Amino acid sequence: MHVHHAEARVDLGAISENARLLRRGAGGAAVMGVVKADGYGHGMVPAARALLAGGATWLGTAYIDEALQLRAAGLDVPVVAWILPPGAPLAAAVAAGIDLGVSAPELIDEIGAAAHEAGRPARVHLKADTGLSRGGVTAAQWPATVAAAARAEADGLLRVTGLFSHFACSDEPGHPSIGAQLSAFHEALEIADKAGLRPEVRHIANSAAALTLPEARFDLIRPGIAGYGITPIPSLTDTGLRPAMTLSARIALVKQVPAGSGVSYGHRYTTDRATRLALIPLGYGDGVPRAATNTAEVLAAGQRRRIAGTVCMDQFMLDIGEGPAVAGDDAVLFGPGDRGEPTAQDWADALGTIPYEIVTRVGPRVPRTYT
Ligand code: PLP
Repeated sequence: MHVHHAEARVDLGAISENARLLRRGAGGAAVMGVVKADGYGHGMVPAARALLAGGATWLGTAYIDEALQLRAAGLDVPVVAWILPPGAPLAAAVAAGIDLGVSAPELIDEIGAAAHEAGRPARVHLKADTGLSRGGVTAAQWPATVAAAARAEADGLLRVTGLFSHFACSDEPGHPSIGAQLSAFHEALEIADKAGLRPEVRHIANSAAALTLPEARFDLIRPGIAGYGITPIPSLTDTGLRPAMTLSARIALVKQVPAGSGVSYGHRYTTDRATRLALIPLGYGDGVPRAATNTAEVLAAGQRRRIAGTVCMDQFMLDIGEGPAVAGDDAVLFGPGDRGEPTAQDWADALGTIPYEIVTRVGPRVPRTYT
């Protein structure tokens, strides 16, 4: 059997179980599994299937290309794609029955033209900017956008299947913007209702809101990170979510070096005694941040060791002292954390980032294996 030099092992059962847990906690709301960015690094199609097996009934992506890949894999559930830059393949999306998230009034006409070309009405989710100031139609433009969508609906060009928004600070429970955004969303919904729009689903809750804000569930919750078993709020430790990804490598080389050896580029680590070094075949070319230099920890042959010296493109070193590791042993960078290995949250804490970035960065050179 070919042994991978490194792998990101993905526990699909954990993803399904996480979806099941989110569904049970959603109080009757449906679940959209967010699978953009290759399923947050877990593999988009396998992650999507696992989320659906656990009770998700919608999928969400950033780009139309991602949504089309889901269709190409035979997934025919509703999929929403919500970033539509100029030149986005709108007609292909409409033809494939992909729901389009609309953040600008001009898109109504463009989508109408795409629907004409595709020969079927488009499915559209109007996105209200309720205070994130990222995607979404501003409050000033919302009434005109809603009116244009209602006209296009009457003309048979599109169907407004959804109305949605997105939180800025839902991972900081109690943040004053949360209540303000909910009020703004209610107002946006009312304006749409008065214009005669009757969407299938209204939705605003990402993982953090799904886990902490029952009043934000509406008809559908839209978790991304929680499906992969990671809590968006580090202090929320009792969610029952199970991290799905374990990133590991086979130790490629172990060697004895004298005291005073400068290790890796720039000699940013120097051995303080005669010791053994282990070479781990993963680097920034695989998504291991160079900022992990002398910082993040790895479980090597059962022992936690801090990375020794600079993380290179394809490799980094550990100072394993008298530890038992030999070439071929497993080094676990992060995983669920129940066997002594660090978690993606531990890596994020060490690097001053969020676990989303840690799992999403794992590059295409690292094979995903599924259990
Ligand atoms: N909804 C939208 C519009 C998003 O952009 C994202 C991801 O950023 C999500 C939902 C999922 O967010 P999270 O992974 O925090 O649950």
